[in-house]
Amino acid sequence: MKDQRYLDHLRHSAAHLLAATVLELYPKAKPTIGPSIENGFYYDFDNLKISAEDLSKIEKTMQALVKDWSNFNHQKVTLAQVKKQFQGNKYKIELASEFAKEGKSLTIYKSGDFTDLCRGGHIENPSHELKYFKLLSVAGAYWRGSEKNKMLTRIYGTAWPTQKELDNYLNQLEEAKKRDHRKLGRELELFTINNEVGPGITLWLANGSIIRREIENFMVNEQIKMGYKHVYSPHIGQKSLWEKSGHWDLYREKMYSPMDVDRTEYLVKPMTCPMHIQSYELKPRSYKELPLKIAEIGSVYRYEKSGELSGLLRVRAFTQDDAHIFCTPQQSVDQFIEVFRFTQELYQVFGFTDYRVRLGVRSKKEKYLGDDAHWKRAEQRAIDALKKAKSNYFISEGDAAFYGPKADFLIKDALGREWQCGTVQVDFMLPERFNLKYVAQDGKEKTPVMIHRAPLGSLERFMAILIENYAGAFPIWLSPIQVKVLPITERNLGYAQKTYKELQEAGIRVEVDERNETLQAKIRDAQMEKVPYMAIVGDKEEKSQSLSLRLRDGKDVGQMKIDKFIELAKDKIETKALDLI
Ligand SMILES: [Zn+2]
Ligand SMILES: [Zn+2]
Repeated sequence: MKDQRYLDHLRHSAAHLLAATVLELYPKAKPTIGPSIENGFYYDFDNLKISAEDLSKIEKTMQALVKDWSNFNHQKVTLAQVKKQFQGNKYKIELASEFAKEGKSLTIYKSGDFTDLCRGGHIENPSHELKYFKLLSVAGAYWRGSEKNKMLTRIYGTAWPTQKELDNYLNQLEEAKKRDHRKLGRELELFTINNEVGPGITLWLANGSIIRREIENFMVNEQIKMGYKHVYSPHIGQKSLWEKSGHWDLYREKMYSPMDVDRTEYLVKPMTCPMHIQSYELKPRSYKELPLKIAEIGSVYRYEKSGELSGLLRVRAFTQDDAHIFCTPQQSVDQFIEVFRFTQELYQVFGFTDYRVRLGVRSKKEKYLGDDAHWKRAEQRAIDALKKAKSNYFISEGDAAFYGPKADFLIKDALGREWQCGTVQVDFMLPERFNLKYVAQDGKEKTPVMIHRAPLGSLERFMAILIENYAGAFPIWLSPIQVKVLPITERNLGYAQKTYKELQEAGIRVEVDERNETLQAKIRDAQMEKVPYMAIVGDKEEKSQSLSLRLRDGKDVGQMKIDKFIELAKDKIETKALDLI
């Protein structure tokens, strides 16, 4: 296995080869930049109109062209030379001018007949080393990532040192496609996002809603055990509330325009915090009531750019397992740790082990509420808590919320991309802005600390990751249908109905496949629907008041008395087991 540096060089060299080939086939295209990225490379071109169908032709030409590439020849050049060499390519000239201004030296690299402006980082002998690559997709991308600039054509590819590694990676991509939550969401009728309702707005279908309801019930019950008070708050509120909280000043780009109600401006809520603050403010609070934990499965609405919307992973309306803990400053570290441990336990229940924690602190560039001393203290408290919880964390500048530092749980999706799910945030600012008080033990009025937390984060995003992680074969407690009864012949329909009734009365989600199909077809369809248990019933089973149990992975468990099966299924459901047998 070659090291990462070699892989980067290999992939960046492949980007050169791609640009050379595109210029050969489409002489009017303007190459811009072509870096290596995780698992591959891309190159952005202006003046190039192609589709995915053109990729195999480009790939073939790349294979032919690379045979003449025996090395990368480099040469130092002046800005004047660059301007001459890349005449008509304003992108290369813009980059070179900037490098020159920063005092960096300029280099060009030549292999075959192709010359590119480049800082270096190539393999030594492309004709020998650069053989195992594939072009993957075409997409639009703005020059330098800014919407103000022109949209360019980006070609993505991947390159590996051996055929075997390339094949492995392509297989992995295939597998990820099969697990894509948008595809499975459609097939399993979990959710839909359509243009009629609007992009980025989710309609949860019946099957997805069963899963969501199970998750919500689980969260609410667990939190009630931990002393949380669950509430419901409205989806809109007066604009003045959001001005007071600071959202209107510092979070406006994510908020939708105000609506007019009786000549007063109202906003749909981007966060639930100010609503929960109202319940704290209801009456004078004593230290004896703290920590006061107010929780809600709450929907929020945030603007996301249309180009960034992505299935359930990034949407414009979503629901959080939100809560706000009002506590004394002394309690804040322990409360933070409690939330942290709770989140870890939850992830275990859902079978997630591959996650990291990112502690977001301030950056110098952004705007935040409050003074330096407050921030230093809050950041220190968060670090203390993470250390005390013995967590594996890394610090990321600029990832704080505008009112305080936050710790985010990052979970990987099927493509290996990390998504922020759970979050815990320590906040000294909002209690001050809303002038929240409690009477301390010494009789003096003091300001509480607020902890904002959502262990699962957005239920929509969490659902996407669940779908991809399990490829739609959810743990049994979440499965929309837990058992499918499959009568072998029409003769067995009556017994199938009786079995159905017994299972249903035991609280199991069950269906009978009454279609006039072969058993083989019924099994195949139940497997497609990822139903955990198939209960096959024929004459033999009817006679012995039993069923033949089959699992969705094809495993044949054999005959079992109905009572015994109910006991097994109930146990797996109630313990939220990840296995079936
Ligand atoms: Zn290069
Ligand atoms: Zn909040």
